[in-house]
Amino acid sequence: MQHHTTRVTGGCLCGRVRYEAEVFLHNGYICHCTICQHSTGQPAEITVLIKAGTLKYLKEEPQYYASSPEGKRGFCGTCGSRLVWQAVRPEDDWLTNLTVGSLDRPADARMTRHIYADTQLPWYKVCEDLPKLTVSDADRLLVELARETGA
Ligand SMILES: [Zn+2]
Ligand SMILES: [Zn+2]
Repeated sequence: MQHHTTRVTGGCLCGRVRYEAEVFLHNGYICHCTICQHSTGQPAEITVLIKAGTLKYLKEEPQYYASSPEGKRGFCGTCGSRLVWQAVRPEDDWLTNLTVGSLDRPADARMTRHIYADTQLPWYKVCEDLPKLTVSDADRLLVELARETGA
């Protein structure tokens, strides 16, 4: 398991929100939950976890929508780009994650798993060789991620 992090930069389409962070670039995941589908307007949200406490905004801050008691989704108030899932509780900050498409170098990311594969759209095929976790695997996933990120 890797605790190796990579410093990345990224931001929104219009450039108003820019960030830098240490992320687990080679431990990304593809979330097929219906909240991610609605929030992105896409079949899935593809993200990388940050190292807790390392996310910094360099210009404007995102605006947020509280999508659950645990997290809020950040987006640029000008261009609408979805950027971040931000944990609400400070002790959960290790679960804060960035959208891969907002990274300046998204091609450098590597995926390791699907989550909420129960609601994967049948015609959306990507990284099909990776493990697929379902809703019932949520607790196991948290344990795995905690180990892999050193949280
Ligand atoms: Zn923007
Ligand atoms: Zn999701």
